[in-house]
Parts: sequence; structure tokens; C-alpha cells
Amino acid sequence: MDLRITEIFLSIQGESSHAGRPCSFVRLTGCPMRCVWCDSEYTFYGGERITYEDIFEKLEEFGCKLVEVTGGEPLAQKNVFPFISELCNRGYEVLIETGGFVSTENVDQRASIILDIKCPESGEAERNHWPNLDRLRKERDEVKFVIARLGDCEFAKEIIDKHQLTDRVKEILISPVHGIENLQQIAEEISRSGLPVRLNLQLHKYIWGADARGV
Ligand code: SF4
Repeated sequence: MDLRITEIFLSIQGESSHAGRPCSFVRLTGCPMRCVWCDSEYTFYGGERITYEDIFEKLEEFGCKLVEVTGGEPLAQKNVFPFISELCNRGYEVLIETGGFVSTENVDQRASIILDIKCPESGEAERNHWPNLDRLRKERDEVKFVIARLGDCEFAKEIIDKHQLTDRVKEILISPVHGIENLQQIAEEISRSGLPVRLNLQLHKYIWGADARGV
């Protein structure tokens, strides 16, 4: 069994409640979405088919027990589901960063989901797969709203309220697009919202720069 892979690397987790932790990343190639602010367009094409065994060998070399499976859209490759289960079998703590278009139904229950909910400014809000919200688990899963304009904050508030997300997830991440001009306004909006959310800045971009690959 194999997967089409863009890159495998060891770094610091830059986002979510796990930010700052050492983490290995397995970045899969391909995504059916086209978010206008996408920062990983280099994953859309190309990549290399790599066998499970070669991926596991690389992860063992890194020696880090936290692994994130990301993309692109990692769940768009059907071979990823047994791969995730095998990671869990081998004792890894597994995070799945998904864009929210593909169903999470077949993801191993031992893995944690970080689910994007696409806001209007992404251009892809119509493609959110809403049944994914019903599968979220309070003890381990997180949702992320990427914010490009203040209007996205309003959308996020509506969705949090409508789906009672504060009761259903471990963390609600509000993630302004990196380099956005009105970051202070968004931070103020979040602080005034009264919601138990977390401002999610992409730590790795502050450390290595926005265009660095493999970090
Ligand atoms: S889902 Fe993720 S990888 Fe796909 S286009 Fe959107 S931001 Fe890019």
C-alpha cells in the first residue's frame, strides 16, 4: 500500500491546541478544494508514491510520537484510512488536519480531528460537509475557522451558535490568514465576542517565514 506524498518532515506544530509541540508531518498530495487564500497550492499536483513501510521508516528516524497527517486534503486518498489506523497501532498520537470537504466517517477513532469549517471569504463555504460536525468529540477534536475578513468572524459566530460547537469540541480555533492587514481588529473582535475560542496564529510562519517548505 502506498500514498501520494508531497513531503514528510519533522518540525514544531504551528497550530491548534498542540502548537509548540515537536511533531512529524506527513503531507499528502492533492486537494479537491480551491480556497482563495490557500497556502499549500504546491500540494495540488506532483508528489511521489511512497509505501507505508518507507513512511514508517522515516517517522521512526525522526523519533517523535506526535504525527500530523495533512495536505492538500489528506482524506481525499482512500489509502489514507488504513494508514491512519496503522499509525495508531504503532503507538503514535495522530492528528488529522482536514479541509472539511471529505467525510471523516472512516477515520480511525483513535486519531484526533482538526476540522476546517470554510468561511465565505475562502470561496469554498458551499462545500463544507456538515455531517462531519456530528462526529466531533469533545475530548479530542478541534475546529478551525480561517478568517480573511471581519465578515468571516460573524459567520464563525453563527456556526458556533447554530451547531453548539462550544459543547462539542475540545477547541475552537480562529485563524486569521497569515499577513492579513487587520489582525488587531480581528483580535479585538475575538476578545469582545465572549466565546471560548482560541486565536490561532501559525507559529511556524513566524519562525521560518511564510514561504518556507518542510517546516
Ligand atoms: S482545503 Fe486546504 S489545501 Fe485545499 S485548497 Fe483549501 S486551504 Fe488549500
